[in-house]
Amino acid sequence: MATRYIYMNTFSKRGFIPWEEATIHVLSHVIHYASGVFEGIRGYRTDNGIAIFRGKDHYRRLINSAKIYRMFVDIDEEGFMEITKELIRKNDLQNVLDKVKAEGRMKNPFVYIRPVIFRGFISEEPDDPVIQPPLGVNPLKNPTEYFMAAFLWDDYLGEKAIKEGADVITSSWTRIAPNTVPAFAKGVANYANAQLAKMEAELTVVLTDYKDKIALKKASEKGELADVSNLRFPVESIQLNAEGYVSEGAGENIFVVKYEGKNVKIYTPPIYASILPGITRDSIITIARDLGYEVIETMIPREMLYVADEIFFTGTAAEVTPIRSVDGIPIGKGEPGEVTLRIREEYVGIATGKKEDRYGWLEYV
Ligand code: PMP
Repeated sequence: MATRYIYMNTFSKRGFIPWEEATIHVLSHVIHYASGVFEGIRGYRTDNGIAIFRGKDHYRRLINSAKIYRMFVDIDEEGFMEITKELIRKNDLQNVLDKVKAEGRMKNPFVYIRPVIFRGFISEEPDDPVIQPPLGVNPLKNPTEYFMAAFLWDDYLGEKAIKEGADVITSSWTRIAPNTVPAFAKGVANYANAQLAKMEAELTVVLTDYKDKIALKKASEKGELADVSNLRFPVESIQLNAEGYVSEGAGENIFVVKYEGKNVKIYTPPIYASILPGITRDSIITIARDLGYEVIETMIPREMLYVADEIFFTGTAAEVTPIRSVDGIPIGKGEPGEVTLRIREEYVGIATGKKEDRYGWLEYV
């Protein structure tokens, strides 16, 4: 078990439940029809204890995601934050985090908070064969339930991606289209699509030189190992929307940097490009504008990625992760760019309490 307690508010379980007992019924509607919404929230280790980054904004998005699916909970974002802090304290995550860090067992540990609101199941029914479990598509007969877990996580796309830049591909899986499932809601159903894109990246090895393909083919025909250079091992997919424009990563928003003479322009897809309106995205737009960069929300054609000077992902887990290649094509100099690093430094500085919290983004446990 990663932590001792999980908070549950379901028909049959309420309160801080021991890890092993934090279960739901197999006939819960969410398992069959993806009737759930969730959040990913980050708690940073700072000199003043664990700081939750924009927690209330995440819970507002969670409550709004639920509303889109006609799920209503008896709790607001302040109530969710109180439970979150209590969960972190009950699991002693401050000490656990310090210990793990001191022992060097994780590179860059942080507290990850995962609340889920979902359609469950009323399991305490009389013993009677004519009772029909509510397991049709209609979710309105099922109770709205929620839970929240908090545990340690490490760099999402790997330490190497942060230091050297991530290698990524453009997925063959189109991002969910408008008026199919709502991209705006952080629904678990969205991630049926996202995980196809993620697996595609994980199972792809990219060659950057055609010579290497010939060498690999010849060697494999002889049952030998080929001596090839410049293989790329993608860690993430970029998805295009139904019109073929850049949407976002499987779990991140995306930004494209162009140097235009002395000016720097930063582009990011707008909300109508079927993106999740990321809270990190919003933070980065604010920080970049304050640093004097022009940020433009606009549709981005795929080919604009290949000729960008810099590209980076943003997200709660990914923070600001530089991208050094897309589909095997080097971006800019093929290493993290200076604008990306400047923005990353500012973001991480604020989130870890090293720089002034001038936007009021931190809430200490
Ligand atoms: N897009 C998708 C599909 C995501 O899963 C995430 C991570 N929640 C993001 C964008 C980034 O959102 P945020 O900055 O709010 O974590």
